[in-house]
Amino acid sequence: MLNKQTLKHEISFSGIGIHSGEQIRMTLKPSRSGKIFFRRLDLGGLVVDLDPRRIDALNCTCLVFESGRIQTMEHLMAVLYMFGLDSLEIELFGGEIPIMDGSAAPLARAVLEAGVVPVEPQRHVVRVIKPCTLEEGGASLSLSPAENLNISYAIDFDHPLIGRQEISFDLTREVFLKEIAPARTFGFLKDIPELRKRGLALGGTLDSAVVLDDCGTISGPLRFRDEFVRHKALDLIGDLALFGHPLLGRFQADKAGHRLHHRAVLFLIENPDFWTFEEAKFPRFLGD
Ligand SMILES: [Zn+2]
Repeated sequence: MLNKQTLKHEISFSGIGIHSGEQIRMTLKPSRSGKIFFRRLDLGGLVVDLDPRRIDALNCTCLVFESGRIQTMEHLMAVLYMFGLDSLEIELFGGEIPIMDGSAAPLARAVLEAGVVPVEPQRHVVRVIKPCTLEEGGASLSLSPAENLNISYAIDFDHPLIGRQEISFDLTREVFLKEIAPARTFGFLKDIPELRKRGLALGGTLDSAVVLDDCGTISGPLRFRDEFVRHKALDLIGDLALFGHPLLGRFQADKAGHRLHHRAVLFLIENPDFWTFEEAKFPRFLGD
């Protein structure tokens, strides 16, 4: 059995919410509770539990509750998952996780520096034991048994800088930190007016996303030639993290997005015959 883990020291961040445009303060605080929960200081200290059934996953992954929402959780969730942090209080002044530079690298660096410590509650690893494919309008997400946590992603955009990009890897913390965490979110200049009309992308800038016009990027050089598909893999890891258990299995996404990622989490919750608790082997990314 493995123990759950929390942070050794608290860490604070401040930054803009890419969708709300709000200036947000966030502090990740050690907790012995055995769960991840939010405390909204701007709503009188309201406590909101992380609940995968209360997610709205259209343009970003968003936790919805009676009096509000917490937007853009996916990059933070990916970092917590990769460091095995599953007992944590997330104090927020604002309704969104700060976007930072559009990637998970600043959050990952801070967590790496702060360090993690075990707490008493036990962690339960889940192994996928049967294959299944979810489909939605030309996109698909398949899950199947595998020795470790294996992620494959393919995207296909009719854009000269993107085209078809594919990535596949066995997830380790090292791969995550070097190859996945630095990949930034991206958006198309032509979509921005429509998004803003819907109250989205209000905080998006050239410093917090890769922004593309019809020919190329207007936000400076890419960090990787295939930064786009790497970022989609980051989003998938962050969305799978909402299942709440370290996973052993292969997840293959083709032209998917937050909605389909989240459907996979709901599928796992509703179909426990597709997985089993694993006592003997732990995912490589947890360090064993
Ligand atoms: Zn993202």
